[in-house]
Amino acid sequence: MFEKILIANRGEIALRVIRACREMGIKSVAVHSTADADAMHVRLADESVCIGPNASAQSYLSIPAIVSACEITGAEAIHPGYGFLSENANFVQVLEDHGITFIGPTAEHIRIMGDKITAKETAKALGIPVVPGSDGGVPDVATALKTAEAIGYPVIIKATAGGGGRGMKVAKSPDELEVAFRTARSEAKAAFGNDEVYMEKYLQKPRHIEIQVFGDGKGRAVHLGERDCSLQRRHQKVFEEAPGPVITPEQRARIGKICADAVARIGYIGAGTIEFLFEDGEFYFIEMNTRLQVEHPVTEGIFGVDLVREQIRVAAGLPMSFSQDDLQINGHAIEVRINAEKIPEFAPRPGKVKVFHAPGGLGVRMDSALYAGYSIPPYYDSLIGKLIVHGRDRPEALARLKRALAELIIDGVETTIPLFHALLEDPDIQNGAYNIHWLEKWLAATYG
Ligand code: ADP
Repeated sequence: MFEKILIANRGEIALRVIRACREMGIKSVAVHSTADADAMHVRLADESVCIGPNASAQSYLSIPAIVSACEITGAEAIHPGYGFLSENANFVQVLEDHGITFIGPTAEHIRIMGDKITAKETAKALGIPVVPGSDGGVPDVATALKTAEAIGYPVIIKATAGGGGRGMKVAKSPDELEVAFRTARSEAKAAFGNDEVYMEKYLQKPRHIEIQVFGDGKGRAVHLGERDCSLQRRHQKVFEEAPGPVITPEQRARIGKICADAVARIGYIGAGTIEFLFEDGEFYFIEMNTRLQVEHPVTEGIFGVDLVREQIRVAAGLPMSFSQDDLQINGHAIEVRINAEKIPEFAPRPGKVKVFHAPGGLGVRMDSALYAGYSIPPYYDSLIGKLIVHGRDRPEALARLKRALAELIIDGVETTIPLFHALLEDPDIQNGAYNIHWLEKWLAATYG
């Protein structure tokens, strides 16, 4: 086992990894930008290294700075968290060259899944059902028109290098296609430096269902069921739950096995998420994330496993500590994302936290790096915490979430907490009757 791990991240996810390290008797090294000198992850880690100025390009994304921090502190492995360098194949390659273990999949697997066209082709070849769409990239408007004709409208144009919901445009008819195609391309170019786009059938009322997989890198893999992340705003998740309110045990077993078999076949190591759109009982692959997800705690809640501990174990060459048969669902878990944002625009509102009181009690988990007196810097993501609840069933989890939200106090900055208070009163949320468009419609109806 490793003696020391460096965490190439910040905020709640850095804390999440430090906590797993501490329980495993592993020393942790925090890295931070100058803006984060007083951050909680710096205080909780055994050691810390300042790796650069405020801008993430010069700190949390600086490969040379992070490798140097490893060398200075003698850390043998790096946990990347999510975001930042977690899906950067070049980073993984550099670590390999320096003899530092990356706690995550191989550079090759990251590369395959990072390019959405290659990812889709790979998924298809591995027996995973995919959304009907173009064969590879769509180079020009004429091809776009021909492809859309064959697939049938509405269609969605998506960036090959996409992520974070950017570079996606819907066209309902041929006369909308040219503008959608050109806009998607220029957005893709601006956001990812790559203007290649592809086309998919646009599903009208799907749910976003993702399957958590885990491999040992030696050809063994399991699935840990699904998470329903359909409540989204601008393709960004805000509320996640497991198990999915409309997924039957048979559907779960079928798609779970397809996913576990697929990652076993490629010798995948560590945690991964295979994302699907789910409509009329069918699953359609959209992408695979080769890292730990923000919403992983709901899966931990219902299976009673520690996914970060497991990631560290397999990276150190140990076997997985559970088999498929060990993984039985217990109850229901829900996560809500607490962002320092103004509702309903979701505009970032960094600032000084005057009061912070985390909820507690049975089945309540608060993953947050906040403390009273902390100044949320304006340079990074606005996620400041995740409230996760677990109950024996969905109604109990909902009641617990309502109770825990009422206990949660964050004073000094605006947050998304009021959004969840309002959402929990809605019968559709109480009944689990929502799809990926529900939240946008609800926001428009509620806030105008
Ligand atoms: P990103 O990597 O940018 O998050 P994804 O491919 O994962 O992009 O898609 C993000 C979200 O966009 C999905 O959860 C869904 O809400 C919507 N979306 C993507 N593809 C389609 C599609 N073919 N039909 C309808 N909605 C889609």
